[in-house]
Amino acid sequence: MRLTVVGCSGSVPGPASPASCYLIEADDVDGKTWRVALDLGSGSLGALQKYCDPRELDAVAVTHLHPDHCSDLADLHVYLKYHPEGQSTVTVYAPFGASTRINQLRGTTDNSDVLHPVVWQASGEARIGPLLITCEAVRHPVPAYALRVEGPSSVRPGSTAVVTYSGDTDTCDGLEVAAAGADLFICEATYLTTYDVEPGVHMTGRDAGHTAEQAGVGRLLLTHVPPWTDCASVLEEATATFAGDVSLARPGQHIQV
Ligand SMILES: [Zn+2]
Ligand SMILES: [Zn+2]
Repeated sequence: MRLTVVGCSGSVPGPASPASCYLIEADDVDGKTWRVALDLGSGSLGALQKYCDPRELDAVAVTHLHPDHCSDLADLHVYLKYHPEGQSTVTVYAPFGASTRINQLRGTTDNSDVLHPVVWQASGEARIGPLLITCEAVRHPVPAYALRVEGPSSVRPGSTAVVTYSGDTDTCDGLEVAAAGADLFICEATYLTTYDVEPGVHMTGRDAGHTAEQAGVGRLLLTHVPPWTDCASVLEEATATFAGDVSLARPGQHIQV
């Protein structure tokens, strides 16, 4: 599996990055490359085109229906429907309400004929070529899921690798289940411990590190840091609670898993 960080800015797009979007690519035994976008947040469809033609996506897997994770589905609809080489379709795995949300973003009540939403069920799964994505409900003000992606390892041929993406969440059991033993844990770290915030929304760098430690992950990639938060402080907090490899996600970053 290969991961590309398409967008990693938290809550809103930032000057250096679109909002959340991670491209997962994996080859099957016949050599076909399968592509899934994890979230398609504000501004990400533009950056995604640096790495693939959006018509090559086999699926979009959406963690929740906040705009910084799904707003560019409206743009993907336009891209797929009006491309001069012909219309194409893509399956969108998302929480309940995705059809309505996509219509709101498009400013219409007519369902998209090119985006096909499939509703995540609690602890549900999606099989996309050689990839198996399972979801775990997490703790956020709207229905939200962490995604665990299993697929062929690029660094240990013949074995399975695991990438877990937290989506947006406060600390919770579902996140630890999703992240258990993951090779790569892409985890949100929106807050600093010095912030005075309500529980049940996001994690601090310290929380992300602690969750990574509890889940026994191989590598922690901190993400969803908003433009108004100091990245170095988030990294420092996570380093204090996770003994393994920890770094900040960067737009355009490629990681073989
Ligand atoms: Zn968010
Ligand atoms: Zn959110």
